[in-house]
Amino acid sequence: MRDLRISVTDRCNFRCLYCMPKESFGADHAFLARPEVLRFDEIERVVRAAVSLGVRKVRLTGGEPLVRRNLEDLVGALAAIGGIEDLSLTTNGSLLATKARALADAGLHRITVSLDALDDPTFMRMNDVRFPVQRVLDGIAAAEAAGIGPVKINSVIRRDINELAVIDLAGNFRGTGTTVRFIEYMDVGTTNGWRLDDVVPSAEIVARINARWPLEPVPSEYRGEVAQRYRYVDGEGEIGVISSVSEPFCGDCTRARLSADGQLFTCLFAAAGHDLRGVLRAGATDADLTDALRAIWAGRDDRYSELRALQTVDGPRVEMSFIGG
Ligand code: SAM
Repeated sequence: MRDLRISVTDRCNFRCLYCMPKESFGADHAFLARPEVLRFDEIERVVRAAVSLGVRKVRLTGGEPLVRRNLEDLVGALAAIGGIEDLSLTTNGSLLATKARALADAGLHRITVSLDALDDPTFMRMNDVRFPVQRVLDGIAAAEAAGIGPVKINSVIRRDINELAVIDLAGNFRGTGTTVRFIEYMDVGTTNGWRLDDVVPSAEIVARINARWPLEPVPSEYRGEVAQRYRYVDGEGEIGVISSVSEPFCGDCTRARLSADGQLFTCLFAAAGHDLRGVLRAGATDADLTDALRAIWAGRDDRYSELRALQTVDGPRVEMSFIGG
């Protein structure tokens, strides 16, 4: 276990079609009640235990992590733990313009912003709450001004919805130091009506960009790196692709995920987690917590990405949890 991804809330202010669509996350959706959500001190204890077992990268996510009040306090507590080499945040960027300075001051190392289009009609169709793209771009600029740059961009490409964003995003961020990573649209359980036809395979994305600005592959830097990297031959930077659907990578996975209500998942897409909140609230000592984590990690056998690849050739359908919760 090297990477721990922590959902600090199950709530989000966007309703992206592929993630928390309004049909499933409407006004009557039952989000977690406050006592069900891990407190910052509980998250900090889990992180300390995970670091003692080898975790070096910690990423805060959600839901939308910046809707959790005073997130910078958690960032500050985690930044003070020795041994974390990479403390990062994944956000939709909507609140970043107001939060960037506090996050930087608290000790955040890096930010990834999800951005699926650069034109308002497409961006608003994806976020489904009429949120204008300029405010996200302002957030990215604020993060860079606060010294947490260069920001990385994550972009999910859906066939016929935002395919044009591939060239728009690549062109916009070429030469800026910001890397765009294109993520294959994944099945996240029953919430998003996933169809294989809606996936734009990474190979196609690379071919499109390469036809405009020639690319060459960059060797991966470490075991478990999920993005395949390419650089522009003319030296104007890099792009990445994450091929969870077309090219499985479970064998090298070193990641675990802690949900907002304290379930530890040993696969980002596993349907069932292990209840760490129960362990924490039953009065576990730090040693008990570390033992529980070690046992969960040793017992894992998830193969989401490999099974997904099998499914695309008529294998069984796999049940998965909501990606963000
Ligand atoms: N709200 C934050 C954000 O927008 O970055 C953090 C949580 S969001 C669930 C984390 C990442 O998961 C985003 O980059 C999002 O695009 C990606 N994601 C969500 N649903 C996805 C899907 N069905 N396929 C691929 N990526 C997905």
